[in-house]
Amino acid sequence: MDNLGSISSKDKKLFIFNDNECGICLEKYRLTDELNATPCLHIFHNKCIKRWLNEQIYCPKCKGNCTIENLDQVSKSIYERLIHPNIKYEIQNAIELNNFNELVAIIEEFSFCATSSVYLKQSFLQIIEQQDNLKLDRILEKLLGEDSLSVDKHENICDLLQQILAEIVQKATNMTTIISLLDYDIFLTTDDLSTVFHRCFQDRKFNALSKILNNNYGVVFSIKINVIKGVIQEDINKNNKTEIKQALEVISILKQREEYSNDISDIIIDLLEFIEKTDNNESIIEAIIQ
Ligand SMILES: [Zn+2]
Ligand SMILES: [Zn+2]
Repeated sequence: MDNLGSISSKDKKLFIFNDNECGICLEKYRLTDELNATPCLHIFHNKCIKRWLNEQIYCPKCKGNCTIENLDQVSKSIYERLIHPNIKYEIQNAIELNNFNELVAIIEEFSFCATSSVYLKQSFLQIIEQQDNLKLDRILEKLLGEDSLSVDKHENICDLLQQILAEIVQKATNMTTIISLLDYDIFLTTDDLSTVFHRCFQDRKFNALSKILNNNYGVVFSIKINVIKGVIQEDINKNNKTEIKQALEVISILKQREEYSNDISDIIIDLLEFIEKTDNNESIIEAIIQ
């Protein structure tokens, strides 16, 4: 829970006097609900308390004097603190039931304070851990698709995904997820990009590599000559022609970029020497030329 020191004394009282459900309808507050506070600082659903005050002139909780005109809107920050335990449940529920329109609505209402962002992050990490890439793709498509979220929420989500991406790159357990995130222009730091690049190279995910190179125009990351050479030499030894060809395609993309051209020339010279020494060099050269 956030430290309450930074909020007004009225908000502090609102927080202490109330819990996470409406005393009239007894339902738990949801992020998209509109809440009102009485002058005696009791909170209810806007709809519930207005209906009550149409007939009564006192607060249903403490019987303090109250009319519709005396109601106050509850500030976003206190409201979110108050319904904190419910947000986690709401997000999980929307994701679990594939109710992505609801998820968009929640996020649109969501204030990305440190504590509430944790819930969203946890939910995303959970999907990633479960390697449910289909679900992740659908969520990303929904959240990051055009006109789905307002501009500022879209930025918030991108920031959050960037943090998540940085975290999973460190673990490097699920390359498919990392690659799906890159599809949505969630950019990596140069160090992380370098990690992902070499990991994909080692896993022979060459299509992803071309994508990474094309999506990250102009971002220069360090390349590890030995890793690239090692992978191709291994494929040459095993006579994996498709892999060799695909790897060389990636290399030719890199070679077109000035920053890498020297390194790549060295790699190519070494590889040609290596091919000379192998038994089946003719068939490999043939495969490369095709
Ligand atoms: Zn209510
Ligand atoms: Zn009251």
